[in-house]
Amino acid sequence: MASKRPIVIGLEVHLQLGTKTKLFCSCSTDYIGKTPNSNVCPICLAVPGSLPLLNDSAVALASRMGLGLHCTIQKYSNFHRKNYFYPDLPKAYQVTQYELPIATKGYLDIESDGGAKRVRIHHLHLEEDAGKLVHPTADGRLTGASYSLVDYNRGGVPLSEIVSEPDMSSPAEARDYVMRLRQLARYLDVSDGEMESGSLRVDANISLSNPDGSLGTRVEIKNMNSLKSLERALEYEIARQNKVLDTGGRLVQETRLWDDAEGVTRSMRSKETAADYRYFPEMDLAPIVLTDEEIEAFRRSMPELPWEKRERFMRDFGLDQEETALLTEQKELAAYYEAVVKAGAPPARAANWVRMEVMRLLNELGCGIEDFPTKPGTLAQLVSKVEKKELSSTVAKDILALLVREKISLDEAIARSGASATRLTGDALDEVIRKIMTANPDVVATIQSGQDKKGGKAKFLQGLIMKETRGQADPKEVAASLERLLQG
Ligand code: ADP
Ligand code: MG
Ligand code: ZN
Repeated sequence: MASKRPIVIGLEVHLQLGTKTKLFCSCSTDYIGKTPNSNVCPICLAVPGSLPLLNDSAVALASRMGLGLHCTIQKYSNFHRKNYFYPDLPKAYQVTQYELPIATKGYLDIESDGGAKRVRIHHLHLEEDAGKLVHPTADGRLTGASYSLVDYNRGGVPLSEIVSEPDMSSPAEARDYVMRLRQLARYLDVSDGEMESGSLRVDANISLSNPDGSLGTRVEIKNMNSLKSLERALEYEIARQNKVLDTGGRLVQETRLWDDAEGVTRSMRSKETAADYRYFPEMDLAPIVLTDEEIEAFRRSMPELPWEKRERFMRDFGLDQEETALLTEQKELAAYYEAVVKAGAPPARAANWVRMEVMRLLNELGCGIEDFPTKPGTLAQLVSKVEKKELSSTVAKDILALLVREKISLDEAIARSGASATRLTGDALDEVIRKIMTANPDVVATIQSGQDKKGGKAKFLQGLIMKETRGQADPKEVAASLERLLQG
């Protein structure tokens, strides 16, 4: 990304916490595809006189995420009311943590140009989500709508907002930060972290530094619903800001919306300041008070984290960085791979099989590893047969494809693939070689008269033999036996 001025990026990520019920009531959080306004109650509809009650699971998930981000979990935190009027917000204020968030001062390590980079986390706080406006237009946008409807199913769903320091200096770094944040959330079972469905939303703050090194005016961009659009939006904004500054213009602090179809950002509103929101303490909710023991219990409940798993895979299985990154991308795939190794497959070969064949078949099936039909134990047996040279890898790949498609046993698949469990060798192999030699007298004569200097003809015969044996013979043995039979 070319920019003559240094790029400064800070991200605010809203992560929907995977609780069963909402933050302050017992309504279900399952809103996708549900009848509008079916998961609502007096609390999340803000009926006067109703009182919120804090969901402990949301506190636990936010704490886990905070710990995963190396934050300090606060023993005392509380809620404020953030006032603004919008039809998707029935109370006309959002209940959110403000001065005293639940987790503060952490970091997340990302990758930048092959090296490691530490992005500081300012804090993580809890807040409730708003409802959703539904516009009856073809593209679902407000423009052209003669009326709008509001669905409160999402209103009150728990979010954690994770605010980074402005430590990123390119769109690629911002992308890597979001990818790693999402991976962490998934490892911790905190959130499904899907950008498309809105479980993970990114507001990107970006500025270009002044010649004296001081920070420039920042712009906040919203409405990116994929990693790709996050990168594109940032790139667009870098070019736009450079151009404004080049032509002697001044930037204003504002919020801009990314238009994915047009590939541009548009000014939405001038940036509101804290004073605009008239924050004040939420008196209907008790503060969140956590004891040292409770925080310690959250810490103990933490699973192995992505970077810990990566380190262990490289150490215990002797895998390189790239292989490890692929295998640990999703913890479910990592668990599958480990189970294959545990069931007796050699780590390096198993890594190859999972990375190449299993991934390819998953792609074909369009499913996740949870639904992959072949159990790790079966794959381990198959891989071990290849390792022991009982099956060639070509045949074994066909067998795996058969296993996946037909959902049959390994023995059956081996039988059906035509490959016997023992490979073709010795006399049986000689028989095949003789057959091929008899069928190709001219080639044999050429070789025997010493005219096959480059060995091309011999290679040709080896190819025919491998084909005839359907890959069940060991290529080295084929070459040696062929040479022996040609000589004598
Ligand atoms: P607000 O809550 O008004 O959005 P904050 O001060 O909390 O403002 O900052 C929000 C985000 O903006 C943070 O992620 C921070 O890293 C980022 N940020 C702050 N200053 C800059 C800047 N000059 N350039 C880019 N990002 C910035
Ligand atoms: Mg902000
Ligand atoms: Zn409710």
